[in-house]
Amino acid sequence: MAGYGTSQICKLLEKEQSLCPRAYWVKNEFYNYEMPEKPYKWHPNTISGILAKKEYLGHTVNFKTYRKSYKSKKKLDNPEKNQMIFENTHEPIIDIDTWEKVQELRKSKRRPTRTGKTNMFSGVVYCADCGQKLYYCTSKYFESRQDHFVCSTSRKQGTDVCDTHFIRAVVLEQGVLQHLRYVINFVASFEDRFREITGAKHKAEVKKELAAKRRAITKAEKRIAELDRLFKSIYEDKANGTLNESRFKMLADDYEREQEDLRKSIDNLTAEVDRQKEQSENVERFIEKIHKYFDLQELTPTILNDMVQRIYVHAPEKINGKRTQQIDIYYDLVGFLPMSLFQNENRIGSHNATLSRKNIYYRFISRPFGAGFLLTYRRAFAASAENKDRQRRDIAYNEA
Ligand SMILES: [Zn+2]
Repeated sequence: MAGYGTSQICKLLEKEQSLCPRAYWVKNEFYNYEMPEKPYKWHPNTISGILAKKEYLGHTVNFKTYRKSYKSKKKLDNPEKNQMIFENTHEPIIDIDTWEKVQELRKSKRRPTRTGKTNMFSGVVYCADCGQKLYYCTSKYFESRQDHFVCSTSRKQGTDVCDTHFIRAVVLEQGVLQHLRYVINFVASFEDRFREITGAKHKAEVKKELAAKRRAITKAEKRIAELDRLFKSIYEDKANGTLNESRFKMLADDYEREQEDLRKSIDNLTAEVDRQKEQSENVERFIEKIHKYFDLQELTPTILNDMVQRIYVHAPEKINGKRTQQIDIYYDLVGFLPMSLFQNENRIGSHNATLSRKNIYYRFISRPFGAGFLLTYRRAFAASAENKDRQRRDIAYNEA
């Protein structure tokens, strides 16, 4: 969750003197092998295998391998669709949320830069204009406050295709931390209000609404069955001559149309019930998560990966002569939490929320890294011209 790659985890485990699985088995006499030469040496593939294991969720996975015939000894991997998963057969050692998050993180691989430095925002920040990732740029001559991100499109295809969207890593970090703290503060103080503004209702209310919708679904299903019976009876009437052909056709068409309408409304109601349930569950999970971070002081990769899904960085604009840059934070489970949502909430301090064109994004004002919601800063490159030249040569672009 801290965003380490598999080889970095190997190094950490080696440093902690953790036995690799084979050495562990030998030591505990599960296996009659010889002790490996380097018992603390882990292989990155072992780590990725462990990270992807469904067993740690408390499930049992069967039929993972098969043999071509009983005569052959060679085990073949069974494709996932042929495997059997028995859920919740034992105590999980990792919760599903964390597991899913890890699988997602594993999908976007981050290579450390040539300098060996990494940044937690790599793979998380995107360009708001072209939608591509921002590259992390650093150099061994940089102080950490000089590390920055630029749009990968601008780097590959030039600034006439897309603006650089230059943003310093520290500025990004401060801005995201400020916003995160604002949201945490808000949820801590006004949990119910947060449910309301994110569209999820109180549990009791959701329950009531869901029950009403389920009743409507049952009613529609009953009517469909009734129409089936009616159809059968008019069919019989037609057969024994008590109902003429044109009358039968009219009634049959009516019944059919009504059934069609009912089926459609059942589909809609079911989708609504599912969506509502999911949304309120997500908001509840988000609130639960926030409880872990009530006194958040510092942003760590683990917290960032836990709370934030994506960040979009806009191109800088000049507002009142100041360089201003908009950042949109897309939170895990609840998505954008634009300032407009909290706009009428002046109970929580005073803040300066400027709405942007689309009314969904907000501006983030920060007075020299202080509170507020418009992220303003000036480029502060104190490097001399010569130094800059050297930086340019030494810059290591990280495919974030
Ligand atoms: Zn771009």
